[in-house]
Amino acid sequence: MPSAPTQRVTVLVADDDPVMRLLMLEMLAQVGLDAIEAGDGIEALAQARSSRPDLILMDVDMPRMDGFDACSALRAAERDGACVPVIMVTGSDDIDAVTHAYEVGATDFVSKPINWPILGHRVLYVLRASDAIARLRIADAQNRAVLAAIPDTFFRLNADGFYLDYEPGHERPSQGGPTSASPADGAGTRFIGRHLTDTLPPEIAGRMLDQMTTVLATHQVRSVEYELVDAGVAQHFEARLVATSPSEVLGLVRDISERKRAEEQIRRLAYCDGLTGIPNRQAFLETLERELHRSKVGNKKFAVLFMDLDAFKRINDTLGHNAGDQLLKMVSERLRDTTRPSDLVSRGDSSEAHTDGVNNLARLGGDEFTILIPDLERVEHALNVAHRVKEAMRRSFLIEGNEIFVTASIGISLFPEDGDDSGSLLKFADTAMYHAKSCGKNNAKLYSSSLTMQIMSHVKLEVGLRRALQNDELYLVYQPQRDVASAEIVGVEALVRWRHPERGLIAPTEFIPLAEETGLIVPIGEWVLRTACRQARTWQRLTQRTLRIAVNLSAKQFKDENLSQIVLSALLDTGLEPRLLELELTEGTLMDDARATMVTLERLRNIGVHLSIDDFGTGYSSMNYLKRFDVRALKIDRSFISGLPQDSENAAITRAIIAMAHGLKMVVVAEGVETGEQLLLLEEYGCDMVQGYYLGHPSNAETITELLQVVQLMLPAR
Ligand code: C2E
Ligand code: MG
Ligand code: MG
Repeated sequence: MPSAPTQRVTVLVADDDPVMRLLMLEMLAQVGLDAIEAGDGIEALAQARSSRPDLILMDVDMPRMDGFDACSALRAAERDGACVPVIMVTGSDDIDAVTHAYEVGATDFVSKPINWPILGHRVLYVLRASDAIARLRIADAQNRAVLAAIPDTFFRLNADGFYLDYEPGHERPSQGGPTSASPADGAGTRFIGRHLTDTLPPEIAGRMLDQMTTVLATHQVRSVEYELVDAGVAQHFEARLVATSPSEVLGLVRDISERKRAEEQIRRLAYCDGLTGIPNRQAFLETLERELHRSKVGNKKFAVLFMDLDAFKRINDTLGHNAGDQLLKMVSERLRDTTRPSDLVSRGDSSEAHTDGVNNLARLGGDEFTILIPDLERVEHALNVAHRVKEAMRRSFLIEGNEIFVTASIGISLFPEDGDDSGSLLKFADTAMYHAKSCGKNNAKLYSSSLTMQIMSHVKLEVGLRRALQNDELYLVYQPQRDVASAEIVGVEALVRWRHPERGLIAPTEFIPLAEETGLIVPIGEWVLRTACRQARTWQRLTQRTLRIAVNLSAKQFKDENLSQIVLSALLDTGLEPRLLELELTEGTLMDDARATMVTLERLRNIGVHLSIDDFGTGYSSMNYLKRFDVRALKIDRSFISGLPQDSENAAITRAIIAMAHGLKMVVVAEGVETGEQLLLLEEYGCDMVQGYYLGHPSNAETITELLQVVQLMLPAR
């Protein structure tokens, strides 16, 4: 090893000629070098061993052992590539000697006669060169040591992708590197001279070559991840590529299978619903994104099902959260069974089947589940799955000894019909689910553009309805009610109308349910009541007749705490006698909460107004209650009247209702009488009053005033 620059450098001078030695020593001293001497080859070897000189000047011709033999013996004894520079001193123009000198390992030569002034510089030059070589050797040894210490496999490639070098990682000598060759000949040398494409599957080699081009052009480090399957076991690798020269790339390959497994584990945790173990919202959204892409590319259709349990809150509230959790788990198991991939993939398409169909099921949170149905050929297929899901939910669940029954509401959105992004598809499936719920639960509904239109116009209508009252867009029409026996008009029913500024006339069947839903029915109802009472009072003054006015009350109005107050003040403000006001209620409104009904009815009775049951026969009412409620009249729904007289069944029902009502001392009104024949038949059955187009359409107040004035008779109403 060369000495540090500050240390003295020693040169061994081997020559049998003492004069030569002296001259050489003198010359070396002049350039600042120390020297030791040897008289022949054997002495030279002994000195080299014991004194470890930094350079040897060796004469070729020496007794006992010449310079050639001494040099080759010296080289033979050296290890680890460390070599002391040897300058051979040859005879003049002895080309053979020069050649031989190199063959036995000489570093350089000088020939006699020696040019003394430059010999010193020659020696210094050789010393410096051999020092540089020694440093390189150390750096190389260090590099190799570092590379040997890391588990990575490393290799060098030229710009064309041929291996220049290949060193297998020490942990997996036969794997971990870019290899598709037989692992048996694991040593790295077999790669040298081969091309990347000979040692890796084409797809991976292609990616590696692409990245290599970038690495050489940009000098950035790039990595390529790939998977190799060996004896059925998949291993993951990462190759990092770095340019070491304009035409060479160093690659380090690491086995990242362990990291991949950890990542997979983390992914599972992040994408799994903790309670049920099925994919969560995040996972579903990503599945949806993938499916969107796949379906767009493949020109396919798919459906998103959104399921919500109908009474989950009730179960949570009554049986506790533990039971709720258990139910959700059982539900997800049933869903998993019902949505096996084989069920989801449409028939005849198994070659391209979605093998991970179960991933298509997810819990979004709470009691909301989603199912993705890929490769949809017909919409019916989505409805079939929805049907199967509903059936699966119908079987009772046994939880903590309780037999629990649940139903599910399902909404379905379709790609591409309903939307072409995941957000819309999920939202629309959700909307459809709500629609299903509002249609009576345990239902499955398709989302369709017409549904959106419905909702949009619903919203618009609601905004309009809020303004309708202030803008005087509402008005009342009145339909006469005739006493059958006397043929007199004894009452009118007030019916509300809405003249919409853009849409024109809107029927109450369209806007009353909306008014109910939004609570607007309360102010609208109050306005109807007051207007009707005022009108009845006006007719009374104009015609001197007592005319009963009927006003429809919706369920929401009936439940309103202030109802009796509102009715009372309408009567007081208009001066109408209470007995001339009749409130029409449906059976459903009355039967909803019998106890509350009794209280409200009691208050109304105290005021002195009458009650009648509207649309009788279409709901369910208990005769027992009707009697207790003290209802004055039953109005037979027009659906029973419209088929008369031909429809014998309805005729029988009508007759029975009339008999039953009379038995309870109630008056019977037939609604929707459109023909003379119907009137005759109803008269025959003993019906008390009739109302319908045959006797008069709902008309404005002026028309009714004229009608009343034409009839000059002034009989009091019953
Ligand atoms: P309803 O109380 O049963 O009113 C009778 C309905 O039958 C009226 O429809 C009337 O125009 C119609 N009608 C009468 N005679 C005939 C006939 O011979 N043939 C046919 N086909 N129909 C006939 P309208 O005015 O469209 O009202 C529908 C429903 O809207 C009413 O049914 C009532 O439930 C509700 N409604 C109307 N006005 C009000 C109101 O001011 N408040 C509340 N809460 N509901 C109202
Ligand atoms: Mg009515
Ligand atoms: Mg009716």
